[in-house]
Amino acid sequence: MTATETAILDIALAGIGKIARDQHIPAIAADPGLGLAATVSRSGGIEGVENHATMEALLAARPDIAAVSLCMPPQVRFEAAAAALRAGRHVMLEKPPGATVTEVLRLRDLAASQGVTLFATWHSRQAAGVATAKSFLAGKAIRRVRIDWKEDVRHWHPGQDWIWEPGGLGVFDPGINALSILTEILPAPVHVTAAELTFPENRAQPIAADLRFAGADGLVVEAEFDWRQTGPQTWDILAETDVGSLRLSDGGARLAIDGTAQEVAGSGEYPGLYRRFAGLIAAGQSDVDVAPLLHVADAFLTGRRNLTEPFHD
Ligand code: NAP
Repeated sequence: MTATETAILDIALAGIGKIARDQHIPAIAADPGLGLAATVSRSGGIEGVENHATMEALLAARPDIAAVSLCMPPQVRFEAAAAALRAGRHVMLEKPPGATVTEVLRLRDLAASQGVTLFATWHSRQAAGVATAKSFLAGKAIRRVRIDWKEDVRHWHPGQDWIWEPGGLGVFDPGINALSILTEILPAPVHVTAAELTFPENRAQPIAADLRFAGADGLVVEAEFDWRQTGPQTWDILAETDVGSLRLSDGGARLAIDGTAQEVAGSGEYPGLYRRFAGLIAAGQSDVDVAPLLHVADAFLTGRRNLTEPFHD
């Protein structure tokens, strides 16, 4: 290697479904510091890329691959992540980082004891407006926050049975993205005080959820998550402060302050995640923030359960 060349970080991608194809593969391909060295896929992976049917097979065959990125559903991620960490590999987790809080904390501890990086990603925190929103709210008295995260599950998750199964989170699968932004931009923590969860009578996970949180100095946060929205989709966060209001819309991609659109620059959520993963590895650090998952767990702990009509794809 010459002085001007830098080492390529070889990555194995596991779970080649919608998000791997839509975001991870293009983000890795666009980053000159990264290489897609192999996949772990039950269904065959990607044409032209070496594939292994299981994580164990990959780890045995390719000791040279330093990092794995896991895109399978949360219910089956723990074993794969733990195996990769035990084999001394750096691991990046899609959101939500696990099916339970404790398994994620166990992975964090395992990564620390192995001396490798664990990155529990929250892609929505990389949305273009989030960093500016956080700066705006710093040091301000926030009176009220309102979250509306409403989308059409048939459009975004067609045929994804795992999302309706225990550990799949139901409407919290998108809703946790809003909570990942909330926990990033608020200067002080909030906690769930009430939740109403609406379950289709034939499904194990909710199709809608209304949450209420309390914070410092009387702050109230209200959130409505709903998967039954057809037509225009809504991913908005409104915060009212003592000196003006802020609206993040389009999942954090657009920001307005007192009704005026702000210039925000972003280079894409997933390119940002992979840059951060490489940076954490280079610095010998991990980033495992379970705050959004804790709020979801608290919503399930406190939530009143309502039943609604059956849901069929
Ligand atoms: P998906 O389309 O259902 O893909 C998941 C893939 O994981 C499957 O194609 C399969 O790939 C593998 N897999 C391994 N064990 C599985 C099992 N027991 N059941 C189902 N699949 C299994 O799901 P996705 O939308 O990509 O979501 C995966 C993760 O990314 C979730 O945590 C989700 O929250 C997150 N995410 C999704 C989106 C989105 O827009 N869809 C956006 C951001 C984040 P192989 O056949 O290759 O093994």
